[in-house]
Amino acid sequence: MAQAMCLIDTSRCIGCRGCQAACKQWNQLPAETTTFTGSYENPPRFSSDTWCRVAFREHGDNGRVDWLMSKQGCMHCTDAACMQACPVGAIYRTAFGTVDIDQVKCIGCNYCVVACPFDVIGFDRRTNKARKCTFCIDRLENGLQPACAIVCPTRSITFGDASDLVPEAMIRADRLRAAGRVNARIYGLDELNGTAMLYVLTDAPEKYGLPADPEVPLQTRISNVIFRPLRLVVVVAAVFGLWATRSRSKQLEQARTESK
Ligand code: SF4
Ligand code: SF4
Ligand code: SF4
Repeated sequence: MAQAMCLIDTSRCIGCRGCQAACKQWNQLPAETTTFTGSYENPPRFSSDTWCRVAFREHGDNGRVDWLMSKQGCMHCTDAACMQACPVGAIYRTAFGTVDIDQVKCIGCNYCVVACPFDVIGFDRRTNKARKCTFCIDRLENGLQPACAIVCPTRSITFGDASDLVPEAMIRADRLRAAGRVNARIYGLDELNGTAMLYVLTDAPEKYGLPADPEVPLQTRISNVIFRPLRLVVVVAAVFGLWATRSRSKQLEQARTESK
């Protein structure tokens, strides 16, 4: 698969939260205690134990009530702020074109949490690691679809290759506009050079609680330029240190053998 993708067609979402529950179940993420915030949206934000959430947004227009529901989570951006923010290179692009956090390499610095324009990364205080949606890489590697996609009863989430799903998304957005949803559009094609979660929205992204123009923060871009060469220096220094320690211990061992 060249580029794995989930097409999220919000016009088909009924807000059942099957995707949210399936994500918790497959990834063995515990439930969280929350309080009522005046919305069906629950939990109200992403965390290290909540990687997938269904957003419920109610809008009133000319006496008509519009419920906009959408499955949200990591977008698996091409221009990924989290990857650029990570000072130790723990966030990487997988063979499926998605973005994952190497839990062994993560040092819990939180830079990615702050940099993500979608605010989807949670910090796990138990392990001191950053966590988010993995695009179910463990399922993809075994020829399975992401848990959220397979469970969706209305096929609001469709898994496949970008080469098939991008044209499909365009057709669906056209159909919605022809049916009177004049603001219908695709979200995730141009944003951040494309995202592996591609949306068909019936209205403007802000109405779904999505940023209209998501960007990699300027300070992340600048620090990436500064830290990347430093990262190389640290790795070279570590390799040199290892080599020097090994040669010194070899010399000592040899000297010990000769003195016997
Ligand atoms: S949505 Fe955030 S966490 Fe996911 S790839 Fe983009 S920047 Fe990284
Ligand atoms: S792809 Fe997997 S990890 Fe990501 S939201 Fe869907 S179920 Fe959760
Ligand atoms: S499972 Fe499908 S229909 Fe149900 S909330 Fe998730 S995306 Fe919407």
